[in-house]
Amino acid sequence: MAEVTVKQLADVVGTPVERLLEQIKEAGLKADKSDALISDQDKLQLLDYLRNQHGKSSVAGSTDKSRKITLKSKSVGELRASGGPSRGRTVSIEVRKKRILTKPGDEAVKQEETEQAGKPKELEELEQLRTDQAKRETERQQEQDKIRARTEQREQEQKDDEARKVAAKEKAEKKVEDKPAGKKAGTSKPVTPDMLQAEETRRDKSGKKTTKHGTPHKTLYGRSELHVSGGVSDKRKKKKNKHRRARSVVAETEHGFLVPVDPIIHDVNIPETITVDDLAKRMSLKAGDLIKELMKMGVMATINQVIDQDTAILLVEEIGHNAITISEDDREKELLARDDSDLESVSRAPVVTIMGHVDHGKTSLLDYIRTSKIASGEAGGITQHIGAYHVETDKGMVTFLDTPGHAAFTSMRERGANATDIVILVVAADDGVMPQTIEAVQHSKAAGVPIIVAVNKIDKEDAEPDRVKTELGNHEVIPEEWGGENIFVNVSATTGEGVEALLDAIILQAELMELKAPIDGLARGAVLEATLDKGRGVTTTVLVQKGTLKKGDIMLAGEEFGRVRAMFDEHGQAIESAGPSIPVAVIGLSSTPNAGDDVLVVEDERTAREVADTRRHKTRDLRLAGQQQAKMESLFDQMAAGEVKKLNVLLKADVQGTLEAIRDALAKLAADNDEVDVAIVGSGVGGINETDISLAAASNAIVIGFNVRADATARAAAAERGVDLNYYSIIYELIDEVKKALVGMLKAEYREQIIGMAKVQEVFRSPQFGQVAGSLVTEGVIRKSQPIRVLREDIVIYEGELESLRRFKDDVNEVKSGTECGIGVKNYDVQVGDQIEVFERVEVERTL
Ligand code: GDP
Repeated sequence: MAEVTVKQLADVVGTPVERLLEQIKEAGLKADKSDALISDQDKLQLLDYLRNQHGKSSVAGSTDKSRKITLKSKSVGELRASGGPSRGRTVSIEVRKKRILTKPGDEAVKQEETEQAGKPKELEELEQLRTDQAKRETERQQEQDKIRARTEQREQEQKDDEARKVAAKEKAEKKVEDKPAGKKAGTSKPVTPDMLQAEETRRDKSGKKTTKHGTPHKTLYGRSELHVSGGVSDKRKKKKNKHRRARSVVAETEHGFLVPVDPIIHDVNIPETITVDDLAKRMSLKAGDLIKELMKMGVMATINQVIDQDTAILLVEEIGHNAITISEDDREKELLARDDSDLESVSRAPVVTIMGHVDHGKTSLLDYIRTSKIASGEAGGITQHIGAYHVETDKGMVTFLDTPGHAAFTSMRERGANATDIVILVVAADDGVMPQTIEAVQHSKAAGVPIIVAVNKIDKEDAEPDRVKTELGNHEVIPEEWGGENIFVNVSATTGEGVEALLDAIILQAELMELKAPIDGLARGAVLEATLDKGRGVTTTVLVQKGTLKKGDIMLAGEEFGRVRAMFDEHGQAIESAGPSIPVAVIGLSSTPNAGDDVLVVEDERTAREVADTRRHKTRDLRLAGQQQAKMESLFDQMAAGEVKKLNVLLKADVQGTLEAIRDALAKLAADNDEVDVAIVGSGVGGINETDISLAAASNAIVIGFNVRADATARAAAAERGVDLNYYSIIYELIDEVKKALVGMLKAEYREQIIGMAKVQEVFRSPQFGQVAGSLVTEGVIRKSQPIRVLREDIVIYEGELESLRRFKDDVNEVKSGTECGIGVKNYDVQVGDQIEVFERVEVERTL
């Protein structure tokens, strides 16, 4: 302590200046004024004097010591530290209480007590000064000793380590386990951070860190090396090795007892994305600590920020836990990838869909087959509509999906369910190829399903079956007899002529396709349709595609699941099971799934529930994403990402001539460019209808109408499915637009443009907004929504975004040049003098 004045000392010891001056005088010191200086030496002299004074009176009272009884009670307790770096450490504390009892009327003792109580305060203070000084000196000494010890130990350990590395390399872990621990017995040197690496390597080899008793390892901070689940120690950061194991450690406490705390290594499940907060919880950490760890890794994140799986894994392993990657889709993928290859596959019935132009006889044909082929005895010949039925022929079984039309087919396909094996294209021989006939061809071709042509109404006088062949030939549906691969059968749904031959053709085609499926194992299939009936509840028609569906199975259908309570065939007969290619009406789902949804039988309800939940979340996410982004844009995004380089177009026009002209022009557009391409997935003359929309949706195509419009249903369907509808009446405009779209598909190029600059004038912290930089906009405009860079002495030191932009008390979106504002930079603390530059990315125009 430096020299102080009498007054200062009086203040410190809490005694009046006059009294202190008196005492100073009595002690033989020179100081006689309140501003006279007192040195440390003087203080000691004063202390000695006071002590002597006090001692005298004390001695006076000690004449009859025997009359005083002193009680010392000792209690030992445990104190558990609840926070800080030594959380979880238990410390024994001993409390000694001293009590002096005196006999009543013992004046001498009373006097002593009085004196004791009235022991001059200044004396205590001065004594305190002296002890402090001595303590500091000892501490300094100890510190020096420690440093010396650390250095020695580090050297020693480096040597040990080298030696051990060589020796222990080939040995089994168990064998070496105790050696280093034994060697280290009796040492209790502190550890420096630099040593931790070496320490770590050693521990990994030995499996143990310390000896059993009284040989604690202390960290730099003096605490024993315990596992602290709630904090992140620097030590962990240094760990490179992931193979940690439990280790027992000894805590150095006054009583030297053991604290057997094993490290808690969590298995942390990491999904594809996770928020910082969630990840922290999974590791039993505070989010703040995790954010700090992230910062150390150079990642700036807020508590609610989503980090990716890779970052999360790194982080978890840095901290010392086991990272286990899980994908939300894992369960689903696992289910979908269920291996049934060991199950024996048997041939199965082909599944047939009937398509064709309206009134060409689809329904009549389906009805004819159903009524003629279903044994009259069955269920009194009355059939139920369940969306499909199967018929037995002499040569085999055929399953018909009895929702004719393209919409059903395409909506199934959109959902990824290619339930159909063969398409029967019905063309009325008296009418020929019509727009929907062509659509049907396009749909089938797009799905890669073989077409059998049923040339219907052959009984009619004006039937021209050969015309049908010729017309279809123009659409690449060519009869076998002409060298093509399509079977053409002339039929009459009215007379039944040729129907048998049609069934034969189906069987033949199926044989060619070698359709097979396992009959055993848990069933898989597709939802054909689902209805909600007041009495029965939800009825779902399922086409079993693999395995056997049984009553009592737990069935997952799209986002719905439930136990199969009852099953019925197309005759309304209750059945117990259904094998491949058999359609059944199932009762048991809680809600209606969509046509085309996949059906999976799972082993337990929990799995079904989990997968259903995941799917629901996904649908919701997709819907949300869809709201933010038009389909067209997402299409372009995919293209930009190199996933799709083709612009799929469905083209409709008013007259054939124009249609062809546009087709040619579009084909030429992309011919010069090998980066992008136009693919016409469908084209035709006439208005845009619902099936056009389904085809476009299924093929990820945009719809272009030249002098034609979409009808109301088509418009609704387009809106629902996010299909982009475009109308034109000038060819070159159409071509121009498509060209633009193609240009959009070319890899986007961006240029940066600085739009504003602000200078930080002062920096303060607000409890609500964190750091706020009081700034002056020097150039342009500061916009909250745009990306920013922080410049220090004209050097870019940070790139990020703004957290807040305020003028006075108001949040604002932009602030113009010459105006002051408060800027909060997200995850970054700026300094006075820094410049905040706001910029925008401008896309550079590209040409084909
Ligand atoms: P869809 O719209 O394709 O289902 O056609 P429909 O099955 O409803 O048939 C339309 C009309 O054509 C009905 O009046 C049927 O009676 C008639 N029709 C269907 N097939 C034949 C056939 O083979 N011969 C004759 N003469 N008429 C048929």
